[in-house]
Order: sequence, then C-alpha cells, then structure tokens
Amino acid sequence: MQSGEEEVSPRKAEYLKYILESEGCVKTTDIAHNFGISPSTGTKAIREMAEAGLLFHTPYAGAILTEKGEHIAQFIQRRHRILALLLSHYGFTPGEACAEVKRFEHHVSRDAVNRICASLGHPMMSVCGRIKHEEGCCIESTE
Ligand SMILES: [Zn+2]
Ligand SMILES: [Zn+2]
Repeated sequence: MQSGEEEVSPRKAEYLKYILESEGCVKTTDIAHNFGISPSTGTKAIREMAEAGLLFHTPYAGAILTEKGEHIAQFIQRRHRILALLLSHYGFTPGEACAEVKRFEHHVSRDAVNRICASLGHPMMSVCGRIKHEEGCCIESTE
C-alpha cells in the first residue's frame, strides 16, 4: 500500500493494462479507438498519466510505460486474473468470470488480492492468461 497505486482511476487502470498487453508503443488513437473515446479524451488521459510518471509519451510515436506504470499495470492484470480464477471455482465459465470481475475488480485492494492468491496456492494460470507473480507480494515467505 506504499506506492500509491490506489490513486489510479479505474479508467486509467484499464489504459495502463491495455498498454502493457500491447507490448510496445501505443498511439493515442489506438487507445481512443479501443475504448470508444474521442481522440482528445485519449490525448488528455495520456498527458495526465505522463505527468503522473506512469508513461513516456512521444507525439506521433506513442506511449510506453515507465517502470512505475508497468508495476501498476502488472498488478492490475494480476488482480483481474486472480479474481477471475476465484470465480471460476464457483461455477463461472471463463467468459462469465472475466465479465463479472470487470464489474468490481478496481475496488479490490492489493492486500485482498494477495490473500486470495495465497489461499489459492499462488496459481500460475488463470482462465484468461498467465499470472505473473510479484516479488515481495506473492512471493512472501511463511512466518
Ligand atoms: Zn479475464
Ligand atoms: Zn500469489
């Protein structure tokens, strides 16, 4: 809870995850198109995230995540996948689990995600992709 990642809005969290999963430079127009927002809204969001130190943005080239942005994006991706896996244990199909998790994932704290992850035995695979475990988080030694 020390890195202040709860300050990222749900919408920006989704942009960060999108950039992470795009694995490269992402143009503002890509984000606008993918999320159904206007180019000016996309530009504004990118500028705000650059000012917050979450990404580097080069006009006409695109945006790439900073170390801080990548760290947050990795957590957002892991949180989604842990929660989706959890729901799949209660009879949700992969599609249903992903859709349901999208309704509430941004309200779930890192602490809760880590506890669920631990209770599931630190799984490596979810219903929608590999779970990358974080140092100092998932990989906590027992007391
Ligand atoms: Zn999913
Ligand atoms: Zn874990």
